[in-house]
Amino acid sequence: MSACIFCRIAAGEIPSAVVHEDDVCVAFRDIEPRAPVHILIVPRRHVASLADLTAEDVVLAGHLQLTAARLAAAEGLGGTGYRVVVNTGDDGGQTVPHLHVHLLGGRHLGWPPG
Ligand code: AMP
Repeated sequence: MSACIFCRIAAGEIPSAVVHEDDVCVAFRDIEPRAPVHILIVPRRHVASLADLTAEDVVLAGHLQLTAARLAAAEGLGGTGYRVVVNTGDDGGQTVPHLHVHLLGGRHLGWPPG
């Protein structure tokens, strides 16, 4: 059994509020939402971070982004906008070492981020 929490969520071993799944990725609601809509999109395959992707992962990277855009539309964020974030490494604020795309929306999001 994997020790990685997002691998375990993707495998259905840990319950989560799944909003989308396909062969490549699983999307579920963040357990500690920072906005009215806060969804995490994670690849089924364990990749530690964005920094670990290679040229062979270009389709995976695009799939995660496109899934974020489709979920934003499905969540009704198309008209008001949203943010897609990939925290990477310590300075980037990454706390779970499994690549994940945050989809945030439903309120105005400040810039620059903290
Ligand atoms: P990051 O800080 O970019 O690594 O984001 C990790 C995110 O995972 C945080 O927003 C957490 O709230 C979220 N998270 C951690 N554990 C779970 C879980 N079991 N289910 C859903 N979201 C989680």
